[in-house]
Amino acid sequence: MSRLSEFFPELKIDALLVSGLSNIRYLSGFTGDNALLLVTAGGEALFTDPRYEIQAAAECRCAIKISKGPLIAAVAKAVARKKLKHLGFEKARLTYASYQALKEALPLASSLKPVGPLVETLRMKKNDGEIDLIRRSVEANSLAFDSVIKRIRAGVTENDVAAELEYQMRRHGAQKPAFETIVAFGPRTALPHAQPTAQRLETNQLLLIDMGASRAGYASDMTRVLFLGKPESKLRQMYRAVLDAQLAAISAVRAGITADRVDAAARKVLKISGLEKKFVHSTGHGLGLEIHEPPRLGRKDKTLLEAGMAITIEPGAYIENYGGIRIEDTVLVTQSGCEVLTPTSKELMLL
Ligand code: ZN
Ligand code: ZN
Repeated sequence: MSRLSEFFPELKIDALLVSGLSNIRYLSGFTGDNALLLVTAGGEALFTDPRYEIQAAAECRCAIKISKGPLIAAVAKAVARKKLKHLGFEKARLTYASYQALKEALPLASSLKPVGPLVETLRMKKNDGEIDLIRRSVEANSLAFDSVIKRIRAGVTENDVAAELEYQMRRHGAQKPAFETIVAFGPRTALPHAQPTAQRLETNQLLLIDMGASRAGYASDMTRVLFLGKPESKLRQMYRAVLDAQLAAISAVRAGITADRVDAAARKVLKISGLEKKFVHSTGHGLGLEIHEPPRLGRKDKTLLEAGMAITIEPGAYIENYGGIRIEDTVLVTQSGCEVLTPTSKELMLL
């Protein structure tokens, strides 16, 4: 929070209203789902409702204001009492309705100022405690994967596999999936974000599993591709190309390089096999309290990678009516390179 208030003078604000729940959690430790956090140079206050009175006292060290009515009204009163002149708000995190309510409730002397992803920028670089939680999330995720894939047989549905993976994640210490588990069979693997269906697995089909655990609030993210039967050489070549692209991107990761260069490293390799146009998303993303956080490892992101950033590396190639391959690891940026946290094998797994 002290790092946050250092930005106030250049933003010309004397307080920031934090409304993104993951940002509130990051700054205060509060894990409930109804809160606002008012940060001033002199300290901060968490606003929540009576359902969270006991929880907030246990989780937060800052001042806590319990409000029976709308939290926005309680914040406006505090702004008036503290005579704050310029209140920043998170423009990507506050709804228009809340903005309007805040504007109407604020004293005339106070103005509202939209602020970009300030807390998100601080969150990019993880501290040792966060890195440890990400490691534990990755571990739960991979253990769940290992325990489920050995039991996959022809005839199971995508829904069966997704349900089993999510159950095993919890058994291995996660509280929930970090995002909706993706399980796709056959040509449906060409949909990068396929939702599991009742479709049954047949022999000589590809399977794509993209899963992540949320453990103590922190996300992991992994994609693996499996094949039931014996894959043809075209598929093996496609797999090899994506794996080479993924390894090239991992080799490019280190502190001091811009995010777009990691993306370029993956694209360059896919170009050799003519698959670069079949790679329809970016090479990766940051992750932490949320599954998608900055930086984005895409063509245009000039963010400098720093030691302590947790990112994914996940190139893919998708051919309609044929299938898709994506290989994804959770990776930690270090001074000299990176550490691949995901322990799961990246060979094409044959069932
Ligand atoms: Zn993923
Ligand atoms: Zn991902």
